[in-house]
Amino acid sequence: QTTVQRIAAGEVVERPASVVKELVENSLDADASRVSVAVRNGGKDGVRVRDDGVGMTEDELAVAVEEHTTSKISDIDDLETGVATLGFRGEALHTIGAVSRTTVRSKPRGAAGAGAELTVEGGDVGEVRPAGCPAGTTIEVDDLFFNTPARKKFLKTDATEFDHVNTVVTQYALANPGVAVSLEHNDREVFATEGRGSLESTVLSVYGREVAEAMTTVDADPDGDTVDSVSGLVSHPETTRAGREYLSTFVNGRYVTAGTLREAVLDAYGGQLAPDRYPFAVLFLDVPANSVDVNVHPRKMEVRFDDESGVKSAVEAAVESALLDEGL
Ligand code: ADP
Ligand code: MG
Repeated sequence: QTTVQRIAAGEVVERPASVVKELVENSLDADASRVSVAVRNGGKDGVRVRDDGVGMTEDELAVAVEEHTTSKISDIDDLETGVATLGFRGEALHTIGAVSRTTVRSKPRGAAGAGAELTVEGGDVGEVRPAGCPAGTTIEVDDLFFNTPARKKFLKTDATEFDHVNTVVTQYALANPGVAVSLEHNDREVFATEGRGSLESTVLSVYGREVAEAMTTVDADPDGDTVDSVSGLVSHPETTRAGREYLSTFVNGRYVTAGTLREAVLDAYGGQLAPDRYPFAVLFLDVPANSVDVNVHPRKMEVRFDDESGVKSAVEAAVESALLDEGL
């Protein structure tokens, strides 16, 4: 394994939550209707993601963990450039396999007989072997960073790492109400959504009844071309928590963070929030694709809008009017 490969792996795989993000994204790409995530000790001692998606044949299994030649990183300097960082997108399984002991088990949808499995240990790819498994894919990532001790030292407590995992899985569950998403930590179920397609029932599964009952619907088609629509759910001003992760914003279907959106939501409450308290919000924005820059950072989910202040006022007005409609 070269230095470049290790650095590349570090760029994609920062912590257990980054592994979870890549694996869940792959499951959704594979048309799964059910995605089950289970982690041990914050994910440091194991991450398992199982789906009922299209699955992989033996040949596809071998290709999936290869270094993809189209996005090969040839030079350390490339890591600093946009071109090289875009390349990381096709490298998730390969890079995860480089810094862990990873087993991929899969069977194509509708295939008869057994499936197959393949293990990668610190970048060493094993043989594809037959393995009994249901249709779909299960990926287990154990001993993350066992061969990169410096990186392992950067991991925080199990509780903090689990918070990051929970945030990631929550975002994907909220963004995909039609998929049954579940999360387990140390064999205990944290949440499980039904996957029946309603945002309300997904919020109920993820955040519980108290929060679900305190939500009000946002549904606005702002004037002008800055924002096409704003929809979702926000909580009554007295239903808050400490911490920002309860603000979930999605732009054109993708989870993003943006200071502008956070401010817009908070300002919409017009001083009704207690200090350091955050409401629950799940907001979906549709904006013209060319008006948003999603490549601010490939790993972080930060975006910038061409018209930051236009977006802010549209979102603020949408949330404000939802709260007003409820007499809040
Ligand atoms: P990318 O998702 O950018 O293609 P990845 O390294 O994440 O790169 O995955 C490599 C390939 O492995 C995918 O393109 C897909 O063909 C296959 N793959 C990975 N995870 C799954 C899964 N859960 N179900 C089916 N195929 C998968
Ligand atoms: Mg992927």
